Amino acid sequence: MSAQTGVVHLVGAGPGAADLITVRAARLLAQADIVFYDALVHPETLALAIRAEKVAVGKRCGKHSTQQRFINKRLIDAARKHALVVRLKGGDPMLFGRAQEELDALKAAGIRCEVVPGVTAALAASADLKTSLTRRGVSRNVTFVTPRVGEGEDASDWIASVRNADTTVMYMAAGQAAAIAVKLLANGLPSDMPVAIVENASLPNMTVVRTTLNEMRSVTDRTLHGGPALLMIGRVFNAVTNEDTNRIDVDVVREVLTASRCA
Ligand code: SAH
Repeated sequence: MSAQTGVVHLVGAGPGAADLITVRAARLLAQADIVFYDALVHPETLALAIRAEKVAVGKRCGKHSTQQRFINKRLIDAARKHALVVRLKGGDPMLFGRAQEELDALKAAGIRCEVVPGVTAALAASADLKTSLTRRGVSRNVTFVTPRVGEGEDASDWIASVRNADTTVMYMAAGQAAAIAVKLLANGLPSDMPVAIVENASLPNMTVVRTTLNEMRSVTDRTLHGGPALLMIGRVFNAVTNEDTNRIDVDVVREVLTASRCA
């Protein structure tokens, strides 16, 4: 490629709260010429890109979807026009974010790319619950899994992942919570297995539903509020109580953001 080709940075925006972005990501956003962002990126995070052209390429289930191949092409075209391109993804870009497809396409086009990690939703939810995902004598492994599969993939291998895990965090699964509970119970998971469903982790409107696998069978769309949510399953969630959850102070978040924008 030509010497003028720009660099594409795949950047983690963090779980939602704009002050949970890394310093490196905030700096790159401030310098970016163009930012391609996902639906889950908070407007306050996007506002850190003070001089960039901002392009929505979000994909949320059931909503308008931009084809992945089209996104890859737009990133390549942008890198041929701009010095600093940011591809901003919710949470960590390398988890359930189709980052590899973008990296491979950019590499094939001879475009330099860098990756900036972010706080993935599972870790934000663990903080909100003030519950460690690992605990001596209770959990020595954590599985991040999604029941969502691509065409031709085995749709049931996630069940084995949950069975083998001490602690499971399920992404892109809350909409099917009841069906998932039925499948896990049918596959031998105990009915009293603790579950925490965390919606809008890290944000002021964060909500937690504490339940068991047995009761999870009656979770419906109405139990949740339409925000992104995680199903968290495991004995570590036994002791989670309402009083324990993080209190997110909106004013503090705003102050931090104003300060970082001026820096
Ligand atoms: N790369 C992202 C995950 C993208 S997949 C990350 O590392 O977090 C999108 C899924 O992430 C959603 O369906 C939901 O399960 C989860 N998610 C993202 N943000 C969330 C949040 N603030 N609270 C709870 N779950 C969230």
